[in-house]
Amino acid sequence: MVWVLLILTLVAVAVLAMRRAPLWQWAFAALVIGALSRISTDNGLWLMTDLLGWILALLPAVILGLLSLTPIRKLVLTGPAYGIVKSILPRVSRTEQEALDAGTVGWDAELFSGRPDWTKLLGVRKPTLSTEEQAFLDGPCEKVCSMIDDWDTRNNRADMPPAVWTYLKEQGFLGMLIGREHGGLGFSAQAQSQVVSKIASRSIAAGITVMVPNSLGPGELLEKYGTDAQKKKYLGRLARGQEVPCFALTGPHAGSDAAGMRDVGVVCYDMYEGKKTLGVKLSWDKRYITLAPVATLLGLAFHLHDPEHLIGETDNVGITLALVPAKYPGVKIGRRHYPSRSAFMNGPTQGRNVFIPMDFLIGGKEYVGQGWRMLMECLSTGRAISLPAIGTVSIKHALRVTSAYARIRRQFGIPVGLMEGVAEPLSRMVRSSYTFEASRALTASMVDEGQRPSVLSALLKYRTTEAMRDRFNDAMDIHGGRAVQDGPSNYLFSGYATVPVAITVEGANILTRTLITFAQGALRAHPYLYAEISAAQNKDKRSGIAAFDKAFTGHVSFILRNMAGSFLHAISGGRFASTPVDHEMARWYRQLSRYSQSFALVGDWTVAFLGGDLKRKQRLSGRMADILSDLYLLSSVLKRYEDDGRIEEDRPVVNAIARDLIFSMEQSFAAVFANFPNVVLRNLMRVLVFPLGRHAKPASDRETYRLARSVLQPGAFRDRLTKGTYVSMDPKDVTGVLEDALIKITGAAEIETKFIRAIKKGVIERRLDRDAISDAVEKGVLTEAEAATLRLADQATDKVIKVDDFEPDELGSKQLRRERPSVEEAAE
Ligand SMILES: Cc1cc2nc3c(=O)[nH]c(=O)nc-3n(C[C@H](O)[C@H](O)[C@H](O)COP(=O)(O)OP(=O)(O)OC[C@H]3O[C@@H](n4cnc5c(N)ncnc54)[C@H](O)[C@@H]3O)c2cc1C
Repeated sequence: MVWVLLILTLVAVAVLAMRRAPLWQWAFAALVIGALSRISTDNGLWLMTDLLGWILALLPAVILGLLSLTPIRKLVLTGPAYGIVKSILPRVSRTEQEALDAGTVGWDAELFSGRPDWTKLLGVRKPTLSTEEQAFLDGPCEKVCSMIDDWDTRNNRADMPPAVWTYLKEQGFLGMLIGREHGGLGFSAQAQSQVVSKIASRSIAAGITVMVPNSLGPGELLEKYGTDAQKKKYLGRLARGQEVPCFALTGPHAGSDAAGMRDVGVVCYDMYEGKKTLGVKLSWDKRYITLAPVATLLGLAFHLHDPEHLIGETDNVGITLALVPAKYPGVKIGRRHYPSRSAFMNGPTQGRNVFIPMDFLIGGKEYVGQGWRMLMECLSTGRAISLPAIGTVSIKHALRVTSAYARIRRQFGIPVGLMEGVAEPLSRMVRSSYTFEASRALTASMVDEGQRPSVLSALLKYRTTEAMRDRFNDAMDIHGGRAVQDGPSNYLFSGYATVPVAITVEGANILTRTLITFAQGALRAHPYLYAEISAAQNKDKRSGIAAFDKAFTGHVSFILRNMAGSFLHAISGGRFASTPVDHEMARWYRQLSRYSQSFALVGDWTVAFLGGDLKRKQRLSGRMADILSDLYLLSSVLKRYEDDGRIEEDRPVVNAIARDLIFSMEQSFAAVFANFPNVVLRNLMRVLVFPLGRHAKPASDRETYRLARSVLQPGAFRDRLTKGTYVSMDPKDVTGVLEDALIKITGAAEIETKFIRAIKKGVIERRLDRDAISDAVEKGVLTEAEAATLRLADQATDKVIKVDDFEPDELGSKQLRRERPSVEEAAE
């Protein structure tokens, strides 16, 4: 009977926890179990033989019953808890609050809930373009890519040629996000992302140049907050490229902590166009500003003060944004930085006591002091588009060229891509290409549905650009010396060198991973935390406690469900977790569901235990961000597989990615448990999440080798993985040479095998002073026709493996070249 009762109790707890039952149901269950326990010990007699025994048995039911009455619960539980929680929950500063309010939550909230509603994922629209957007991508975008010579851009001019600038401006590239009613292209986020992607696959510098005016900057700020007069004055000119904008937030003392800027504006009267005018006296010192050296319109962020209370009651008004023409008296602009030796324009700007009228402020007087919120709102969508586009396309571009090169380049008689050691990084590139294209496209679609995904955009920014760095490293390694030797025919080096730019801008990655993603996610996407913190910060204690009581009781049932759910899913290997599909991929949906529940549990306890310390315990927070982002990446990969129509050829890559991501999540959970500061919670979490230990395994050597092999030839799989990159088929083009050679070499594969076999047998010999192909014909190894095919493949190979060399006085700055002694002088 004891065992039966124990099992009954466990089942009741599990069922109630999983159903998130209200307290009175818990009380009722406790009543039934308590009574049964007494009856069993009284041998079935309904007698009050042991009053104390009955009291003890029914005590839990009584307590739970009383707690289910709101006034009593507030008095004995949530009221006292309110005080404690107030002191441990992280405090939210004004700028943090504005950042939190700026974004919306969607799929991130589902992951935080521990029970993702699949319809919210699968219901996001498929990534599609309108006919006009597609035509723009295939027309002007394709054309401008063919006009760009990356080497000439970065080496000869440190700028794009005037023809490219003119074309970009005239075709509206710089005003893609500006609405049609204002003369812009009015493109969707998906289209903007794909245009920036394609251009960046040709030249990252050109991609950044197009990205910036379409990302956080004057165009978007004016569209959203500008006064009618400002919109009329600037939007049309910006759309046509008659104005080139930049936006200056960062300064020498304010990088990641941008809100800590020293730039200041003081409200005052001064003379403007001959009249005494109300305005702002501005002083700023900004650096790293993209497009600043060529900008005609400067966006500025500064702290506004109103000591004489000319516009309101407040002295310290807050962060405010202004638009100042670059030619305005007192504006210093035009000098250049040289970021990663890339050709895009970037530089500092300063001004001291520059008087501007009030109508230079973005949104006018109505928006003074709201600059941070305005910036955060734009950032949550801009960051979802721009760097995910550049990062993803860099990965795909690296795969496109490296898969060709690894097939073309032979060592030890075989293509290097066939060697297991090389296949390993190549296969990583395959998996990353599929994964990040999936999440890029999904996130852009979310923006098109009206979301401002601040948490998802943050995690995507750091994950995509980290993957960009890793995959460029893989590509460089596979190319060996070919990619190290810089010059006009090097198609990798500039991307590789520009990686730190992507890592640093729009929130440097370390900060974004370890401080922003999880903390902001927990506060914003957690179902109860935000409500609890808001209640705790409520100045009116009564309504604070009332709101807190509601959130707190929900939170407790959330905790219980996560505990039961995590444990049950773990011991059943996720077999009973929910899935929206009934095909092979159902197992990955179930795993996603299982780990989302574990994430909800561990995330919750991490925030509750660390409280205000969360900002300091960045290693834990970073690992939680990794788990959240792995969950998101897996979601997007499964969604892509569905959206693409479950392409059979893609199954192996999806399976391999899923295995890797689940393995990675398990590792991160393990690292969180190993380093969690509280030993009891640490062990409890470990038991609830991994009661039977960790069992995930990454993709096997066999499956990853197969993935690498499948991209070593032209075909639909390789094209699909690298879609959206600019592909030239011109054998004279820097990357076209690879496509040409790959087709010729794979076309001559059988002939080549025969030829190489003959070399290995010693029938013919590869020597610089002999033509081995002619020898092969002479010796009857090849026919004349076969020799012709092989010769074409051979010539194409020679072109691919060729690297650049320079006259000694071609290198270095002009000044140094003049000073450098000639060979004869040096000899003397
Ligand atoms: C090429 C380029 C273009 C740019 N374009 C623009 C532009 O157009 N407009 C503009 O306003 N700005 C621009 N920026 C500025 C950019 O946004 C900043 O560089 C960025 O915010 C980081 O600031 P920082 O470089 O001063 O690094 P720092 O803030 O000095 O950070 C140094 C390191 O510390 C880390 N770190 C800082 N604080 C924390 C924390 N609390 N927790 C954990 N880690 C932390 C960072 O992640 C980073 O790794 C550009 C920068 C570059 C390099």
